[in-house]
Amino acid sequence: MKQFGLNLWGEENFVIEGDTVNVNYASRPSLLQLTKEIREKGYKGPLLLRFPHLIKKQIDTLFTTFAKAKKTFDYKGSFHAVFPLKVNQFPNFVQSLIEVSHEYHYGLEAGSKAELIIAMTKTPLGAPITVNGFKDKEMIALCFIAAKMGHNITVTIEGIGELKTIIEVNEEFNGSSKSPVVPKIGIRIRMHSAGIGIWAKSGGYSSKFGLTSTELLEAYELMTRYDLLSHFWMIHFHIGSQMGDIAPLKKALREAGNIYAELKRRGADALGAINIGGGLAVEYSQHTHTQERNYSLEEFANDVVFLMQEIAKSKGVEEPDIFTESGRYIAASHSVLVAPVLELFSSEYNAKCLRLKKENPPLIQELYDLYTTIERKHAREYLHDALDHMESLLTLFDLGYIDLEDRSNTEILVNLIIKKAIALLKDEGTDELKKLQDRIQERYLVNFSAFQSLPDFWGLSQHFPIMPLNHLSTKPTNPASIWDITCDSDGEISFNREIPLYLHDIDLTKEEYFIGFFLTGAYQEVLGMKHNLFTHPTEVVINFDENGDYHIEHLIEAQNLMDVLEDLDYDTGLIDKALKHKIEESTKITAEEKRELLGKIYLYLSENSYLKTIQALSEKEQGVHT
Ligand SMILES: *Cc1c(COP(=O)(O)O)cnc(C)c1O
Repeated sequence: MKQFGLNLWGEENFVIEGDTVNVNYASRPSLLQLTKEIREKGYKGPLLLRFPHLIKKQIDTLFTTFAKAKKTFDYKGSFHAVFPLKVNQFPNFVQSLIEVSHEYHYGLEAGSKAELIIAMTKTPLGAPITVNGFKDKEMIALCFIAAKMGHNITVTIEGIGELKTIIEVNEEFNGSSKSPVVPKIGIRIRMHSAGIGIWAKSGGYSSKFGLTSTELLEAYELMTRYDLLSHFWMIHFHIGSQMGDIAPLKKALREAGNIYAELKRRGADALGAINIGGGLAVEYSQHTHTQERNYSLEEFANDVVFLMQEIAKSKGVEEPDIFTESGRYIAASHSVLVAPVLELFSSEYNAKCLRLKKENPPLIQELYDLYTTIERKHAREYLHDALDHMESLLTLFDLGYIDLEDRSNTEILVNLIIKKAIALLKDEGTDELKKLQDRIQERYLVNFSAFQSLPDFWGLSQHFPIMPLNHLSTKPTNPASIWDITCDSDGEISFNREIPLYLHDIDLTKEEYFIGFFLTGAYQEVLGMKHNLFTHPTEVVINFDENGDYHIEHLIEAQNLMDVLEDLDYDTGLIDKALKHKIEESTKITAEEKRELLGKIYLYLSENSYLKTIQALSEKEQGVHT
């Protein structure tokens, strides 16, 4: 894999320069340099780096692309966008999002009361807030409060029941008022055209959300009767996330556009906007044959604008304002998870680790000779001999004829022979070689939790781009599988010959090696789970000043052990007492040792669950062999 597919998924956000992958912006710091700087301050374990300039880039691109499409078609409606908070509600993210988007009146979308509170607090007055999802009376009351604060808020009703609640709340809030303040009303329509992919349930007839045509007519009548029609101004749909193909969107646009036009012709005069939800896809693939998206943002914007215009024209109604709620597209690229490699498992298959005896079993002696004399012209033959000898030696071990040291020597020698043979025969690329290569793949133990930091890998097999932060001028040769530090076998990104990942052969006793996981900014953080009680990694925001210099800011350290337990509602006071008591009451240790142990345990409790490097340990082990 050249450049780890950076040209496919990277959007020129990062660039390989010499040995390292650098931020392709301002002073272009390398990710390695940033990582080292943060680690030097004492923050070990995985790190989440946030780049607000990348959030800004996505927002700029979204708005300018739609502006261009509007210009091309001379479209009369305006364009607006909101960020759906469910995609990332973390304060460092939301704060950056608001800071970089001032000029666009970019707003927020909320799907729950807690998200609505964030939206009411963070959205600049005048920028749109949209509220989707199921709502009770209290949530609708919050929307009225937001409107009374002066917010430009649209509450989207997902069912007739919600409209009835709006009528009720309106009565309570505005009653006899001469100048009632009412949030704008949107209606989510239940599409006939189905949603797409694994999120198909978001759209389509079986969707949890939206009104059918019959319900729409009923809602129309209710709004007329209760004087709310003048507040009804938006049609909303959302067909699902990570839309790889543009076709379903076009279908949905036609359907929604015609519903918009029909309602306007019926007399919904205030109706003036169509909200196309999210779904804009992100390219996560590192390989050309597995690309996930078949359209560009230009095509997407042109389709939306063109189709809306066409329908408005043919039905003789105004062109609607267009709203999008793209979340993944805005947030995915802004963060990079950096995690240190703790161990390469096959480092034990090293010639240094051989424990050859004065007298070795003859087959082992032969393996050793194969290893030392293998050359290209007979590499394949030697390889077959080695595999054959290994089978015999393992049988001899099972039968009790050779000992554990012999078995260890067998494993090491056969591995070394396979590696040598593959190197010698590498331009042949036969199937047998590929299979062997899979067999000697290197397992990289990486200090992170896939459940916490890449939950969609675990839950949906979503691929995320992976690459090391340095050695990038050297061709990586180890077929790699990545193991996280949870005790769960699902926490493994195994080597896949269809989308192979090769990493470098590193001596971790001599240097550190970091893996970057990219495009982790959408959905992963809040979906991340505390499996094995690993928590959200330590995070930082990387801002650049006018001179192009970077600043590492807003560091939030991963939760410490006690905080994690407290989150599970353990009484940490009791835990604290129990630990202290058990040490103090122990009859196995002296008073001085007790004091020492207490000190240690308090230190550990103030730290997070991720592993400290285990390098020192392997160094000692190496000492034994050499
Ligand atoms: C989830 C969601 C979005 C965001 O979808 P993306 O695919 O992340 O752009 C937008 N609108 C609604 C109603 C949603 O539920």
